[in-house]
This record gives sequence, structure tokens and C-alpha cells, in this order.
Amino acid sequence: MYEMTVGENAHDKVLAIVRSLVAKLLQYDESEVEMDVPLLEMGADSMVFVDAVRRLEDAFSVSIPVRRLFDDLSTLNALVAFIASNMPADWGSMEKAEVESPPSHSKENGVVVTPTVTHIPAAPNGGPPQPLSTYVNGSKLNTNQAKGVLTHIISQQLEVLNRQLGLLEGRVVEAAPEPEALAAEPAAPRAKPEASKPAAKGVLPFAQGVDLSRQGYSAEQQAHLERLIQAHNQRTRNSKEKTQRYRAVLADNRASAGFRLSTKELLYPIIAQRAQGSRMWDIDDNEYIDIAMGFGVYLFGHNPTFVRQAVEEQLGMGMQLGPQSELAGEVAALISELTGVERVAFLNSGTEAVMTALRLARTATRRPKYAMFLGSYHGHFDGTLATPSLEDDSQAIPLTAGVSAQMVKDCLLLPYGEERAFEILERHAGDLAAVIVEPVQSRRPELQPRAFLQRLRAFTAQAGIALIFDEMITGFRLHQGGAQAWYGLEADLVTYGKVVGGGMPIGVVAGKGAFMDCLDGGMWQYGDASYPATETTFFAGTFCKHPLTMAATRAVLRHLKAEGPALQASLNARTTQFTEALNAYFVADEVPMEMVHFGSLYRFQYKGNGDLLFYHLLQNGVYTWEGRTCFVTTAHSDEDLEAVIAAVKKSVSQLRAGGFLPQNTAVPELTAQK
Ligand code: PMP
Repeated sequence: MYEMTVGENAHDKVLAIVRSLVAKLLQYDESEVEMDVPLLEMGADSMVFVDAVRRLEDAFSVSIPVRRLFDDLSTLNALVAFIASNMPADWGSMEKAEVESPPSHSKENGVVVTPTVTHIPAAPNGGPPQPLSTYVNGSKLNTNQAKGVLTHIISQQLEVLNRQLGLLEGRVVEAAPEPEALAAEPAAPRAKPEASKPAAKGVLPFAQGVDLSRQGYSAEQQAHLERLIQAHNQRTRNSKEKTQRYRAVLADNRASAGFRLSTKELLYPIIAQRAQGSRMWDIDDNEYIDIAMGFGVYLFGHNPTFVRQAVEEQLGMGMQLGPQSELAGEVAALISELTGVERVAFLNSGTEAVMTALRLARTATRRPKYAMFLGSYHGHFDGTLATPSLEDDSQAIPLTAGVSAQMVKDCLLLPYGEERAFEILERHAGDLAAVIVEPVQSRRPELQPRAFLQRLRAFTAQAGIALIFDEMITGFRLHQGGAQAWYGLEADLVTYGKVVGGGMPIGVVAGKGAFMDCLDGGMWQYGDASYPATETTFFAGTFCKHPLTMAATRAVLRHLKAEGPALQASLNARTTQFTEALNAYFVADEVPMEMVHFGSLYRFQYKGNGDLLFYHLLQNGVYTWEGRTCFVTTAHSDEDLEAVIAAVKKSVSQLRAGGFLPQNTAVPELTAQK
């Protein structure tokens, strides 16, 4: 991929590598990478930016001062020039260097050995650049060998980074070709997706002391951004002030996720004061139509009377922990009735439910491994924070710092909806305890692979592998019986949360007795010789079956039972209509966006950095959260949905008027009014 040829000067070589790196990171064609626009403005976030630069430091043996990345080295051209003039001399004068295959995996006693690579640290700031030296398995390599290895490592790291970024931003990242293939021939340009490049030549940095002339914004864009920032800051003054006041003491990634210098002054969570039905009011008393709806928790809108009354009633009776919950048995029976699961257990979050389901599957099958699908999200248990290794893209490595390789060594990663998943599954079938699947991935709602899931059900049943449906979002939303009912399939274990808790913290693990019995030993009764005969695993939690949660959950389940499946059917149909209306508008008005949905979940799809659209929506009275997964609830009236459509149209016009979307049309004035 990073082939060097005689005659290229150092600058061109660096440029080719940097351009390729950034294109991969942002899933752009190389021709789309704008060298004079700050990287952060092209859709990367600061974490990715700094990480990518660290990798460049490694590859070129240069030290790039982080402070300057936000200042005079913020554009790729500036970065390339800096690297080219500071990297070791022998990079520039090298003969054609073969791009080597990935380090070969020698087999010692049947064990695959991957070379370990150590870099000699780059010179400290200002010092003379160190010669490039690399050690593989303890032996020093010559420069060309070293570069081949480094090339492989860079591409490996890029791949990992790309996947991490994709997961964080809710994009699905396809597996890249192997490095050999990339080295042999340039990647064919990808077909342009429907939704084209977003807003931008970037947005204006409002950090004090940043030289705006270097950022490449038109006067029109700068003026628009200044007005947007001013209007947003004015309108949501108290949210910003409060966020800053507590930043030192409140460690909160919600308040820093998606950091970009240009949108720094806009980056703070909207702080809610109260909410009712489809509406939320922030602490500046702005009213919003809420389309985030508690990350999908509030199927009935905010504060529905039947949930509030149930919680208030329980509150009056106290929150007993220790003695058994009076409601737990009834709640379990209702879940079983609506979804068809045999047995049910309660936890406090979806993450715990997933972790427990995996533990149960391993206990029941006595096998170590589990498989997950790329593009799915299963919470923040270490064992599910995995990304593919490049040596073997079905083998997981840690997704993020702080997760040990040991925690994901038994995890396999599979492409969702693809034949290749079965090839991998077949290879490992005898070792697999479970395959966990998010039946419709919330980050890719348009993918609903029914036939694939039917085959997966048959395969896992035949191989004695537990099929786990993670129904955190689909449960009780897609259908009363969740994705199992939607697809007409029965999983072995199912995890629920969100909707069913009615706004109280909950995780549910449920499923067939053969697996659930590993929690408590299974069925037994008094007055005979029966006993809990199944081998058990460990399971506990101070707040499991919390009385307030049980009260809210029972209220939700009773309501769902009374309303029947028509509740979800109507919500799903209204969401289809709503997204179709927006898509018709996008097509007719040539807006480079698309709506995708399943059930009552929807997402705006666009390429790159869509922050500005969402800031405009906030200005126009529509609230969503940073993850941008949106929901229609029973509390959203047809008028609410019309109002959301109107807000989207107004935001698009404003973005066009500001030079952030193609094709200008007449634009309503952006004002700072409430
Ligand atoms: N699984 C899925 C499919 C989810 O969407 C989520 C959360 N959005 C989780 C697990 C984790 O749930 P929690 O945030 O309650 O831990």
C-alpha cells in the first residue's frame, strides 16, 4: 500500500502515505481527502486525530508536538511538510523498497508465532532525528526490511483504528483487503454512496488564538458559523455554563465526545429540566421535540401516567432491598407471556445482561468461545469490547485501552449477514459456547437479514451452540415479542433492557431452561426428593429486582399486554411514513442525506461530519443525542412528526445558505430567539 519508488521525493512519499491513511480512516476515496482542511473538520474526532498522528510518528521516526496539531499543523499539507522536513534522511534517499508481506506466522509446535516489533523511540522535540531502526523478535532489521514491517504495522493499525472509529461513530466498517492485495494493486475507487460529503470544508475554530486564515473557510461559512455559535450559546447558556462549572469534578465522556476545535464552543450536553410526552425542556426553558427518547427507553414518551403512578405507589411503600421483591415473579411471568421465553432473571443494565448471558452459555456448554458480529454493540463489558485482528480478521483484539487481550481472546468476530460467517463458525463450532447477535443492528437498521438468521438458528441448534439475541433495542419495540417474534425465530437466550424498565435501570436475561437453570440449579419443589440439579455459575447484584424497577416494569408490561401487538405495528407504520416523507424531500431537493429505519428506530445517514445539522435541529426545536439514534414513540403526534420534518427542511436551508450544503435556496434567518 505504501510503496516507495526511486525518484519520488520525501515530500511526495509522505503525502501518499498520509493521504492513504486519512482516506482509510474516514472511508473516503483518496481523491476526496482535502489537504488544506483541518483533519478534525473532515469528520475525524480528536482522539482519532491524535492517535493517527502518533502512528505517523512511529512510522517516520519524527516527533510531532501535539500542541501544534491544533494550531499550525492542523491541516494535512502542513503535517506532511513537517514530517518530510523532520524525518530521518534515509527515508528520502531510499531505493525502491519492497513492501513485504505481513510478517510470516511461523508455526512452532503447532502454535502460531507473531513477530513482536519494537520501535526505537523518535528523537525528543527539537533533537536530531534518530535513524530508523526496528527490531523483530529481538533482531535488528536493515532499513528496507524495517520499512516493510512498519508498512504492515501501519496498515494494521489503520485498520484497527478504522474499526474503532466506525464503532464509536456508529458506522459499519467493512473489512479491508489484506495488505498484500493493497500492495499489489491500488484499491479500486469505491462507488459513491448516496449520501455525499457533508457540510464541509470544515467549521470554524473559535478557539482563541487560532489563525482562521489557515482553515480554508469561505467568508460566508465563517459568518454563518459565528452566527450559529452565538445563537446556540445564547439559547442554551445555562447548559454550557453548568457543564463547564462541573467539568473538573464530573468525569463525563458525554461532555467531551466528538471534540473538534471548530465546534468546541458548541460542545456541551443539553441539560434537561423536565420532560413530558414528546417534549423536553432544558434548563434555559427551551422546549424541544425529543427524538432521542432516552436512547430508546421511552416507547410511550416521557413520564407516562401509568408508569409514574406505579413508581409513586411503590415509593410510598419503601425501597426494600434484601427481602424478595413482591413483584419479581409476576414481572417474570409477564415477560414470558409476551415474548415466549421460559425463564427470566433481572439485572441492572444491558451490559450486565449480556455479560451474564455469555457466562450462562459457557456454563451450560462447557465451551470457552463466543462469536459476535461486526457492527453490533453489546454494551461495555470488557469481553464485548473487541475489534478484528489483522492477522486473522475473525479473531478479536481489544477495541480500546484498558481491555486486556485475555478478555477477548475467546471472542470471534463475524461479518453480519454474510456467507463467510458460516465458514468461520464451522471451523470453530466445537469450541463455541454462544453466538450473540443484535438482530437488527441499531447502527445499521436497514440490514435485516432474515434468511441469514434462520440459517444461523439452524446451524447453532445443530452444533449445540447457544444463540443469544441481544434485544436491548428491538425488545418490546419491534413487536410485543421483540425480534424473535419479528423474525419468527426462537433464540436460546435473550437479553432485554431499555423499554421494559419504563425509565428505571434494568437488564433482563431470559431464555430456555437448559441455559437459565445454570443460574439457580433449575426447577425443584417441596415435599419430594427433587433438588436444584443443574450445575450453576455465579450470579449476583445488590440492586437486582429493585422495587421501583419492578413496579415500573410491571406497569409497562401490563400496558403492552392490554394494547396488544397493534401498538408496535402502528408505531412502525408511522415511522415508515415519516422516513419516507423525509427521503422523498431529500431526493426532490437533492439533499445528500438519507433516512434509514427499522421498526420505530431511525437514523439520518450522511457522509462525514454531520454535527452542524444536529446543531441546527437544536436551534429549530428538535433534540437528539450525540449517538444520533432516533425514535418515534406513542407520544409523538402526527403534528410532532410534521414539525420534525419542517425543522429538518429549515436546517437544510440554513446549511445551504451558510455554504455548508450544496445548492443554495432561499433561507430563513437564523435568530437567537427562544
Ligand atoms: N446491547 C445493545 C444492543 C444495546 O443497544 C445496549 C445499549 N444501547 C447495550 C447492550 C448495553 O445496555 P446498557 O447501556 O443498559 O448497559
